[in-house]
Amino acid sequence: MGALDYTDRQMLQGLFPSWGPVIRCPHMSYTESYECDVCGNKKGERDLWWLSFADCIPGSSPDDTIPVIKFSRFDVSHSHDKTVKHLCGAQCAATLMNRWMSDQHEDPDQHCAR
Ligand SMILES: [Zn+2]
Repeated sequence: MGALDYTDRQMLQGLFPSWGPVIRCPHMSYTESYECDVCGNKKGERDLWWLSFADCIPGSSPDDTIPVIKFSRFDVSHSHDKTVKHLCGAQCAATLMNRWMSDQHEDPDQHCAR
């Protein structure tokens, strides 16, 4: 079976809206699609990607919190979390970290996002 043509896709999307990511790759069934949150690259099935997590540590006073950024290798058990960022490589991880660090410097008193 070849790739679905446009009208087939429209019809399937109408019937199964939740199939969106699958229908975008009709020849790879049940493929989940991830996009790099920095450069927009699409993740291939065998690409080794990374995840970034926003974390939080206590500050010097009881109501003080300090934002933390963490990285891990790509893991499907965490990749669906809405707060997790998907990264295609070290370069994009560095870009994200740079942005995060600039953001911290701009507002050194900021607390963790709730
Ligand atoms: Zn990227």
